[in-house]
Amino acid sequence: MRTDRTDLERPALLAPRRSPRLHRAVGGVLLVVGALAGPAATAGAQGIDLSRQRLVDLTHAFNARTLYWPTATSGFQLQQLAYGRTPGGYFYSSYAYAAPEHGGTHLDAPIHFHEGGLPVDRLALERLIGPAVVIDVRAQASRDRDYRLTRDDVLAWERTNGAVPAGAFVMLRTGWGERWPNALGYFGDDTPGDASKLHFPSYGADAARYLVQERKVAALGADVASIDYGASTDFIVHQVAAAAGVIGLENVARLEALPARGATIIALPMKIEGGSGGPVRIVALVPR
Ligand SMILES: [Zn+2]
Repeated sequence: MRTDRTDLERPALLAPRRSPRLHRAVGGVLLVVGALAGPAATAGAQGIDLSRQRLVDLTHAFNARTLYWPTATSGFQLQQLAYGRTPGGYFYSSYAYAAPEHGGTHLDAPIHFHEGGLPVDRLALERLIGPAVVIDVRAQASRDRDYRLTRDDVLAWERTNGAVPAGAFVMLRTGWGERWPNALGYFGDDTPGDASKLHFPSYGADAARYLVQERKVAALGADVASIDYGASTDFIVHQVAAAAGVIGLENVARLEALPARGATIIALPMKIEGGSGGPVRIVALVPR
């Protein structure tokens, strides 16, 4: 068993841009992570090299201002149970928390919109890591807050950056993340209990079908509250994604820190047994 740090010091895990081996190389992360505590790394597996990659947290902190869907019955609740010096002379603090699954930076499991789909605790770890693809529609969304990503937008991205790789974590950058946590700016309406007047951009159905069915992506993420646009009533993008076992990542933070491609995303949700989703810590490995 190896106990030194040699595995961590190997070259960056990312394959060169546009390499058809990118996805397999990215999958190597899990092999290496496992190798740290187990047998020597598989030949050819490359480590996470933090001298060549920086870590970016794509997660909004959970607090009293965290945004939840307008119809949610509660927000994030944190109750202090203990804080201070104990009779024993040592410091001790502890809290209880509660929240709906679908608020803040969170993951949608397939069961959220597909009967029989996987719940969040049963998602394979291999599905929670992959190459990031960032599609920027800030210009379109700034002109139309109901903007929906089109198939042509994706094809235009591919002409510049190469094909969206299978297993990709697609991140739609609308610019709405800068409005967080202002409910009116972010949702387009802040009437409590009413989700019928929301306006914000997101994916369109044809773009979602192309990414999910033809490009076989692993995740659709966005810097807005939903992978369907705010005015949606049928949540067709959720339906398309969930039917294919593709996860959703919503209220993603700091997409401005990612290149159009080349980063790797690790998204680990809270393991709620049987849950339809839940809070997720999303970390990106970005080449320096
Ligand atoms: Zn959700």
